[in-house]
Amino acid sequence: MIVDNVRRLRAEIPDYVTLIAATKTRSVQEILELLDSGVIDLGENYVQEAQEKHSAIGIKARWHCIGHLQTNKVKKAVEIFDIIQTVDSVKLAVEIDKRAGAIGKKMPLLIEINSAREENKSGVYPEKSPELLEEISHLENIIVVGLMTMGPVTDDVEGIRPHLRLTRRLFEEIGTSGIENVEMRYLSMGMSNSYRVAIEEGSNMVRLGTIIFGERKY
Ligand SMILES: *Cc1c(COP(=O)(O)O)cnc(C)c1O
Repeated sequence: MIVDNVRRLRAEIPDYVTLIAATKTRSVQEILELLDSGVIDLGENYVQEAQEKHSAIGIKARWHCIGHLQTNKVKKAVEIFDIIQTVDSVKLAVEIDKRAGAIGKKMPLLIEINSAREENKSGVYPEKSPELLEEISHLENIIVVGLMTMGPVTDDVEGIRPHLRLTRRLFEEIGTSGIENVEMRYLSMGMSNSYRVAIEEGSNMVRLGTIIFGERKY
């Protein structure tokens, strides 16, 4: 089933779009089946869960941190993850820089944008993102390689579109602003219910869970 779902998605989604499987709650067995289907990018939300799976699967996959990251989990996170998509504060970036430096790693990051301006959600407000980038651009053990956004959680896909469009515009503005140590390569947006709209709005990295694995059982 996983293999068939991936085949169908890969036929539909353009090649330039990286397909990340959002693997929270999924077993090592399911992930191994996924890897057989040719998807090697995994998005995990929790450091502990990622750590357990990483020790079973290791470098066969590329590990993306797509969940909110607490500073006390950064040390482990920089060991496991190949890219951290959820940076939304100077404090978090400084901690990642410090911990990455300690193990001789240069950590690629995406800045998470709170594109729907939801008060209790993670992510930096769009207008605050250039300031955040300026403040972290001198850090030597990180490199910012793009933006990530969730958008509002709703079944009304057209209601999500303006937030994705706004994030795309920001991606382009930042890309031409010439901030040191910042390269706008990846625009990570689109989930199972919104990936089509997200790609229309310029996403080149989608994060898919349900549509690959079926409904999550917690
Ligand atoms: C779970 C999750 C996804 C995937 O969600 P689906 O609706 O199952 O496709 C994508 N991004 C993030 C940050 C997630 O936590």
